Amino acid sequence: PVDALNVVAVEVTAGENARVLPFGFGLADDLFEHDGQITKREIRALTLSALSPRRGELLWDIGAGSGSIGIEWMLAHPSLSAITIERDPARAERIALNAARFGVPGLKIVTGAAPAALEGLPAPDAIFIGGGGSGDGVLDVALASLKSGGRLVANAVTLDMEAVLIAAHSRHGGALTRIEVARAAPIGTMTGWRSAMPVTQWAWVK
Ligand code: SAH
Repeated sequence: PVDALNVVAVEVTAGENARVLPFGFGLADDLFEHDGQITKREIRALTLSALSPRRGELLWDIGAGSGSIGIEWMLAHPSLSAITIERDPARAERIALNAARFGVPGLKIVTGAAPAALEGLPAPDAIFIGGGGSGDGVLDVALASLKSGGRLVANAVTLDMEAVLIAAHSRHGGALTRIEVARAAPIGTMTGWRSAMPVTQWAWVK
């Protein structure tokens, strides 16, 4: 049948005129609408690996930015759900746009600042903190809200947030990892390494 042949043809030419979407984590940054505040592909892949989605689980994506973490979480399996919490209304709108484009319209979007905005949400199996973790009690509320056996992953790029994560690690244990990524980029007519800001990641199982 012609339809079946067409499907095969699209697969064979993927990369020329089709978006290449891997089954593994770490979708290309450019697939998301964003304003620069996005967890970069390499960091996102490690973050989702540490969040370790399992069938039917719910994620809170706190400080969701473009929504990339919540969206990739939901794409991993149809049984997964996610709530994004983002205080910037323009970014919250962008999350809705990205969710629609990726075909995960079930993504829930809370426009508001954590920790207040977390009140009354259903208890999560996993929590990602990508923003708003330092000095405002977000981490404490997140630790308390997480279900037993749940995973919490928090990424810091500022020293302030890093200090919070170092303290959490010495108090609760878990894994503290420093991730440094450099991408090759043009320097004049040649090529050099452009380093991204190092990310300190704390991953903990309740
Ligand atoms: N993981 C995101 C990037 C996060 S950038 C992505 O991949 O797109 C951090 C975000 O946290 C910013 O959008 C900022 O507006 C938001 N933020 C900071 N403090 C917050 C708070 N207390 N509550 C909710 N969002 C917050």
